[in-house]
Amino acid sequence: MGVGAPGFIEPGTGKVAIAVNIGWKDFALKDILRDLSGLQVYVDNDANIAALGENWKGAGNQVNNMLAVTLGTGVGGGIIANGQVISGANGTGAEIGHITVEKNGASCNCGRKGCLETVASATGIVRQAEELLAEGKA
Ligand SMILES: [Zn+2]
Repeated sequence: MGVGAPGFIEPGTGKVAIAVNIGWKDFALKDILRDLSGLQVYVDNDANIAALGENWKGAGNQVNNMLAVTLGTGVGGGIIANGQVISGANGTGAEIGHITVEKNGASCNCGRKGCLETVASATGIVRQAEELLAEGKA
């Protein structure tokens, strides 16, 4: 079973170290799913899995090098270089959603301010629209 989960996945363990948008911390997703299903389970970051899927059967068209950006509750990134997913030393190799893009911007679920996903995710876009509506703008 292949599973994508948001947040930082500990390489090799399938444990979600932290997923700030859904409140998971040290969540043993692989072990739980293996115990429930009796199947072998592979867990990686959801944007990494999206990049693999797009590269396999989608817009990536099986190229050796690509970047996938996922927009939803947050902003995720998946990098494939030389045909391999880049997870980085601690599973955060393509976590682009928490790059600071606005100094003193809106608060992010990660605890910092002005992260990319506070302005470019669906959640961030809705927040900005609500702020504009509250100011009386159309
Ligand atoms: Zn953040």
